[in-house]
Amino acid sequence: MDNIDVRIDELIKRLNKASYEYYTLDEPTITDQEYDSLMDELIRLETQYPSKVRSDSPTVRIGGEVISDFKKVTHSIPMMSLGDIFNEQEIIEFDERIRKTIKNPEYICELKIDGLSVSLIYENGKLIRGATRGDGVVGEDITHNVKTIKNIPLSLPEDINIEVRGEIYMPKSSFFKLNKERIKNGEKEFANPRNAAAGSIRQLDSKISAERNLSTFMYHIPLPDEYGIKTQQEALNYMKSLTFTVNPNIVKVNNIKDLLGYIDYWEKNRATLPYEIDGIVIKVNDFKEQKLLGVTAKSPKWAIAYKFPAEEVLTKLTDIEFCVGRTGKITPRADLEPVRLQGSVVRSATLNNQDYIKEKDIRIGDIVSIRKAGDVIPEVVEVKKERRTGSELPFKMIENCPICGTKLIKKEEVAYFCPNLECDARNIEGLIHFSSRDAMNIEGFGQSIVEDFYNIGYLKKISDYYTLKNHKETLMELEGFGEKSINNLLNNIENSKNNSLEKLLFGLGIKHVGKATAQILSENYLTLDELMNAKVEELSMIPDVGNVIANSVVDYFSKEKNKKLINDLKSNNVNMRFITREKSINEMFNNKTFVLTGTLSSLTRNEAKDLIESLGGKNTNSVSKKTDVVIVGTSPGSKYDDAVKLGITIWNEEEFIEFSRR
Ligand code: NAD
Repeated sequence: MDNIDVRIDELIKRLNKASYEYYTLDEPTITDQEYDSLMDELIRLETQYPSKVRSDSPTVRIGGEVISDFKKVTHSIPMMSLGDIFNEQEIIEFDERIRKTIKNPEYICELKIDGLSVSLIYENGKLIRGATRGDGVVGEDITHNVKTIKNIPLSLPEDINIEVRGEIYMPKSSFFKLNKERIKNGEKEFANPRNAAAGSIRQLDSKISAERNLSTFMYHIPLPDEYGIKTQQEALNYMKSLTFTVNPNIVKVNNIKDLLGYIDYWEKNRATLPYEIDGIVIKVNDFKEQKLLGVTAKSPKWAIAYKFPAEEVLTKLTDIEFCVGRTGKITPRADLEPVRLQGSVVRSATLNNQDYIKEKDIRIGDIVSIRKAGDVIPEVVEVKKERRTGSELPFKMIENCPICGTKLIKKEEVAYFCPNLECDARNIEGLIHFSSRDAMNIEGFGQSIVEDFYNIGYLKKISDYYTLKNHKETLMELEGFGEKSINNLLNNIENSKNNSLEKLLFGLGIKHVGKATAQILSENYLTLDELMNAKVEELSMIPDVGNVIANSVVDYFSKEKNKKLINDLKSNNVNMRFITREKSINEMFNNKTFVLTGTLSSLTRNEAKDLIESLGGKNTNSVSKKTDVVIVGTSPGSKYDDAVKLGITIWNEEEFIEFSRR
């Protein structure tokens, strides 16, 4: 077995065990997000290596095993699962896929009720059978229990034969009440309303089911032709006329904008519902078109489930690594089993410092919950101590720099530093910082390229960027590079020579000189020579500069090594002057105050801010009466709600881009 086989085997075993615990025992031991992440990894490996798809893989099986306590029933038409998607891009891709076959599709958008699916069969208008989905083909007969659910009609207004399908769920209020009682009786709580509903409907004694106050929403007729029904919308209406309960929050849309709007609305307002939903189901409305699109082994191609992102997810911490920053500061970092968090796959998270790890007693092998701090960098929030197996390894702080081996020193209350000014890790971080977007913005110089060029000796210090062109022939020979990619890198370096002074100043990495300070110093001194001649007293008079920064600047420029660096940069024609940006005035932006919230698809947060400023606008972080416009991307935060409350103008991304071009 190679490494891939081993991982696939491990994933299949873990997922099948989880499925058994979830579907058969109604007692999950991992969260749905953990399950979905492992499944995601398995799907990716199987797509990459199709010959390795095994028949026992959960990617080709629906649901769980059928236990023997219940009578087994075979579904005449399989009860399928749904394909999952997790972000806006995947929704857009789903729509594009559909549009390849269907010219102008109409979609029915439904709430994804977090329960379990049920099939109900009526003969001559009388309920004769209720069944679970089981493995999709064979389910369990739960007729005695479905009869106790108040909104399932025992007889219909018409004497027809029909099968209808939908979701059995437990309302939130019943779930909380049930768990409270279980705690009181010393019983194990249900993990969520879905498991509580599944556990309640699969009771041999129907008295117990009856007490659990379950409910249903019906959403599917497997053989609609028999009733002259042509669309999902007609099917929903027909079920309503037969006295089934159909969810009231279903809409029909015919474009991606309305589709995303519906999703966005329910993502924000799901908490107001008296039952749990875990996403949105999107279905092609027309049954003829559904047939044209077809099905896969597990799910229809004409429908998809968009799952809401979790704000906090669980995963396994597999190791603790130590990173050395530009200033020598040592930051512990958690290596994680990949997990999906708010639309992206996370593999590592910050642990801040060793006190943080000790305080939370974080150990290698622990199951931890992670969250995005400030929406960007993930951090470990909590250890799930109840999931410890005893094999977890306690944390031990290192004593020496993991890169150069120098003994670490404790400088700040909780932080350790590598004091070696020549530490490779520090140098590399400094070089990466110099090329970063807010500094010299030399595109292409990420961690691995800088490390490669550093290790072969061509990029040891900042000024070496500008002599890299002398090694062009050798660089082109390196594995993974060619003439085109090296030319691109060298062009990017050339272009950076024209940057305004504040970008260079920030890129030098002077202690305490961040982006804003670099801007202030550049505006005040206009040239680097002037700044290099400035005295501490004079610098500290500048508002927002102060004594600490002033001392740091003077100290930096007093060092021979740094003076030489500046001279080398000068001799390579790197601009040392502040270039006043000509602001192109745009009436939609000029002198207006903007707040950004959510993620934009075509611009990063910083690019959007730069664009606003370049058009004469001002960026602020919070919404107030003084805010003129709030620009809203996907998954916006509370700033969006504030804007609505205060009646402030709201632009979406499309409008923002369009207005910026006027
Ligand atoms: P699913 O929940 O991803 O989606 C399909 C189901 O959605 C349908 O079978 C139906 O029951 C339900 N549904 C709700 N509203 C609907 C509507 N309006 N229209 C159509 N269907 C609707 O698929 P699944 O196969 O039921 O479950 C797989 C998921 O279960 C996994 O993605 C995972 O999140 C969870 N799971 C968790 C564990 C665990 O250990 N935590 C184990 C196995 C599965």
